[in-house]
Amino acid sequence: MKTLWNLASSATLLVALVISTGCSSIPDHAAPAQSKESQAAITPTAALDRLKEGNWRFRSGHLLTRHYESQRKETAGGQHPFAIVLGCIDSRCAPEQVFDQGIGDIFSARIAGNVVNEDLLGSMEFACKVAGAKLITVLGHSKCGAVQGAANHVEMGNLTALLARIRPAVDATLPKDQTGKATPDQLAMITQANVERVVREITERSPILAELQKSGKLKIVGGIYDLESGAVKFLE
Ligand SMILES: [Zn+2]
Repeated sequence: MKTLWNLASSATLLVALVISTGCSSIPDHAAPAQSKESQAAITPTAALDRLKEGNWRFRSGHLLTRHYESQRKETAGGQHPFAIVLGCIDSRCAPEQVFDQGIGDIFSARIAGNVVNEDLLGSMEFACKVAGAKLITVLGHSKCGAVQGAANHVEMGNLTALLARIRPAVDATLPKDQTGKATPDQLAMITQANVERVVREITERSPILAELQKSGKLKIVGGIYDLESGAVKFLE
C-alpha cells in the first residue's frame, strides 16, 4: 500500500510540474524586449557586438527564442531600439533576420542599393538623436541587383534617379575605358565602395549625426552580407 501511495504521490507531483510549466505562456529563456534601461546601458561598441552575436546566431542556426506576443505588449507603450540598420530592399537580407533581432530591438531602413537621401538621413536623425539608438550600420550585400543595375547603366522610370546615387561608387571602381559589363569581382568592389561612401556621406550631410559620433554617443559602421554563407563582414 505504501508503494502505491508513493507512486500516486509521485504522479501528482509530476502532473503539478507539467501544469506549472505547461501553463506558463512565456518560456523562461525567451528573449526580453529592449527597454529604456537596457538601451541606456548599452555602449555603441556593445551595440555592434550585439549585431555580431545576432549574425552568428543566424548563420549557425542558434536563434534566440522569442515570444512575439509578449514582446509586442512590452513595446506597445514605447520603443528603445539600440541600432538602426540601413539595408537594401532585397528580400534575402532583412536586418531583423540577418541579425536575429526581435520586436523593438532595431530600426530598419531599407532602399534599393542601401543609399541615403534627405529622408533617410532624417530617419536616422530621429532614430539616434530622438529615440536613442547607439549604432548605425549600412548593410550592403553580395549579388545586389541595384549595384548591378548602376554598373551596367540600367535606366527605367524612377529607378534611374535611384541608381544614379550608386554611380559614384561605380565610377570610382571601374576603369574609365571599360565597355563590357562589370565582372562579379568588380560588382563586389563596387558594393563595398558604395557602403563606404554612404558611411562617409552620413556624417558629411548630417551635422546632428556627426556631433553624436564625435561625442562618442554613436558609432557608424558599414557591413557586407553574404547571401550564401549568411555572414556579415563588418568594415571597421
Ligand atoms: Zn540589393
